[in-house]
Parts: sequence; structure tokens; C-alpha cells
Amino acid sequence: MEWIPTRAAGLERLAQFLPSAGRPYAERRNVDLGPQDRSNVSALSPWLRRRLITEEEVVAAVLTRHSAAAAEKFIQEVTWRTYWKGWLELRPAMLERFDAERIAFRAELARDGNLARRFARAIDGATGIACFDAWVEELRELGWLHNHARMWFASVWIFTLRLPWQLGADFFYKHLLDADPASNTLSWRWVAGLHTPGKHYLARAENIARNTGGRFAPYGQLNEAALPLTEDAPPLPVTPLAPAQRHDGGPCALLLTEEDLHPESWDPVGEVKAIAVLPSATVHAPGSPAARFSEGALADAAARASAHFGVSCHTVAAADLPGWLAGHGLTALVTAQAPTGRIAWQLRTVEARLAADGARLVELRRAWDDLLWPLATAGFFKLKTRLPGVIERLGLDPAAPRLL
Ligand SMILES: Cc1cc2nc3c(=O)[nH]c(=O)nc-3n(C[C@H](O)[C@H](O)[C@H](O)COP(=O)(O)OP(=O)(O)OC[C@H]3O[C@@H](n4cnc5c(N)ncnc54)[C@H](O)[C@@H]3O)c2cc1C
Repeated sequence: MEWIPTRAAGLERLAQFLPSAGRPYAERRNVDLGPQDRSNVSALSPWLRRRLITEEEVVAAVLTRHSAAAAEKFIQEVTWRTYWKGWLELRPAMLERFDAERIAFRAELARDGNLARRFARAIDGATGIACFDAWVEELRELGWLHNHARMWFASVWIFTLRLPWQLGADFFYKHLLDADPASNTLSWRWVAGLHTPGKHYLARAENIARNTGGRFAPYGQLNEAALPLTEDAPPLPVTPLAPAQRHDGGPCALLLTEEDLHPESWDPVGEVKAIAVLPSATVHAPGSPAARFSEGALADAAARASAHFGVSCHTVAAADLPGWLAGHGLTALVTAQAPTGRIAWQLRTVEARLAADGARLVELRRAWDDLLWPLATAGFFKLKTRLPGVIERLGLDPAAPRLL
């Protein structure tokens, strides 16, 4: 499996996977066949993460090939991504809390020699637990792990190696091609038993042996009796989403960020006079496959945007955006809404500075997000139940009766 950071490569992988997206996916998705064989899952996550391809178009493509019933499992899995994004969007303070804890634990590594040694053994793949050490190598070399391997990895990290989950999430984030603040942080919390208090995910040797086709069999090496983690911090209240913004259709500049690299489908953007590209804000390990994917994805989007809108693209640092916009004689900077994360944090400053100059940042929200994010108030169930209605409303299923 090769992850090439272009929209064309993402669409090619989608077309290749499409025949398997129905029942074969539902039946075999939990098996980790190993890095040489990713035929039973889509492996689309690096492209979806940056919206080189979008959830909507993946779901629409799957429904042209399979019935809604046959593709139900795959579509639900795609929507787990949306659920995590929505959940965090409704409780943005959770990411700030995680970030503070992550930084505190990194400082602790400098003080606590025992913790530092155990941490170093884990991230060097030198724990002596063969499956875990192999996943570390796979993550570092390829930047990607199968979903089940991520669950086992996080569980072994937390309950067998007894390392802070925040350092594990940080390690994943630095190396994953699809590193996502919502899916990554909240999945680690879910494994730990913090997302649904009292319900944790325990990796078991028998399950690993069965679902890796016997490649690994860590019998007697795992803590299979651990209790869920608990935390003192109170649950965060749900903050309703602000209404989606629109651009009035006048002349504007576009801002491309890693959060959404398909500007051809932004709606509507008015007359585009200039395009800026925000440099990568991810914190991938330098020289890692993830860092290279990020750079390549931005370059691909810039080339496509330039061809589509007929204007050249310039890389502009966040601090320089107000001056750059004014230099073009424009007062509207249009971008896709950046969900909670580093880019959104950067954009808050940009927005304030633009407002001080009498200019405006317009953050467009895709219909998919607008309809589904508000449903992430509690567990996945509510979103899952309302999903068919949203698919119908967006007209994604060619077999469904059209709404009048
Ligand atoms: C500890 C841990 C950390 C994770 N970190 C990330 C992350 O940083 N970024 C990320 O995109 N996913 C993350 N996931 C979710 C999941 O593992 C990956 O999305 C999935 O493995 C990608 O493989 P795929 O593209 O073959 O998925 P498929 O099974 O083919 O599913 C199709 C798409 O649906 C989405 N999806 C599927 N399952 C999930 C899920 N459980 N949660 C969220 N989205 C899902 C992905 O966008 C995926 O590309 C994490 C899971 C765990 C347990």
C-alpha cells in the first residue's frame, strides 16, 4: 500500500476498494493482514483526513456500487470520523485539556528517569512484546496502522506498559499519516475508558492471534485484567455550534489549509482573486512519512486550486495573511471551517487581526458537517440512527426516493 499525497491517488484507491466496500468489508475489516495486504480495509484515512477526498463523495461512490444495506457498516465507519469531529467541536476545551496534560507529561519525562526509560523502550519498539514492537516499526516506517492494531497498541501502552495515554496519543500524532486531533485523542480516551466512563478496551492475546492470522500470539505478556482509567476532571458541557457562515459572493481570496484540500467543491466562493496556502501546522516528526504527506498534499491542492480558479497560489504564514489580503485590495478571506485543532487556533488570531483592519474571515462549513456534527452530543448511536436521513437529504443514494 502506497499513500501518495494527491487527490488523484485518493480517488484511484477509492475506485480500487469500491468492489469490497459492501459485505466483504463488514465481514473482514477487523482482520489485520499485515502491511503487505490492506485489501480488506479502504486505507483511505490519510486522504480523508485532509479532505483530499471528502466523506460525502466516498459515501456517494459506495452507494452507486452497493445497496445502503450492504454498505451500512462501511458508511457507519466513515461516520465515526464525523462523530469524533463533531464531539470535539461541541466540546473544544477537551483538546486544550489534552494539550496541557501532554505538555506536562513531556516535562515529567525530564524529571522521572524510570518513566523516561519505560517510555523510550516503548517508542523504540524494544519492549519484548513482539506485536507491539512490530507496530512501532510499522508506524515509524509507514505512518499507518490498521484500526485493530491501533486499538491493541493503545491498550497495551495504557494497561500493560502502564504509560500515560497522553504520551501515546502524542506519539501516534507525530507519526500517523492521518493524524487527527479528534479521532486520535478521543480514540485514546475511548480505549482508556475515559470517553464512556467505566468502559475500556482490553487487548487480549487470543483476539490478537486470531485477528492477525497467527502472525502474533502474545500469550502471557498482556495485562488482561486491568481496570479502566478514571480522571478527576469534570465532564465538559456541550457548546452548541455557531451558525454556518456564508460568503456574500463579492471578490475574495481563498485560504487553503490542511483541514480541507478540495476547494473545487467549496460553495459558494464568489470571484476568486488570489489564493493563499497556510504552511503545515501539524507536528509530525521531521522527515517522517506523515510530514512528507502533509507537504505533498498542500502542494497538490495548490496546483489544483490554481488551475481551477485561474489564479496563482502563494504560501503565506498566518501572521502575514492580513497584510497579504490588503495588498490584493481585498476584504474577504474565504476558507473551509477548520475544526478544533491547531489550524483553528491560528485562525482565531487571523480573524481578530482581519476584523481590526475592516476585513473578514469567512469559514464555510460543509453540509455533511453542518447536519452531522450537532448530533454528537452523547454516544455514536444518535448520529448513527439519523444517518440515513442525512444521506437522503444530501441526495447521496441514487437508489433512494428523492425528497420533493
Ligand atoms: C488509538 C486510535 C487512534 C486513532 N487515530 C486516528 C487518527 O489520528 N486519524 C484517523 O483518521 N483515524 C484514527 N483512528 C481511527 C481508525 O483507526 C482509522 O481511521 C482507520 O484505521 C483508518 O483505516 P481505513 O482508512 O482503512 O479505515 P476503513 O475501515 O476503511 O474506514 C473508512 C474511513 O472511515 C474512517 N474511520 C473508520 N474507522 C474509524 C474510527 N474508529 N474512528 C474514526 N474514523 C474512522 C476513516 O476516515 C477511514 O479512512 C484511531 C483509532 C484508534 C483506536
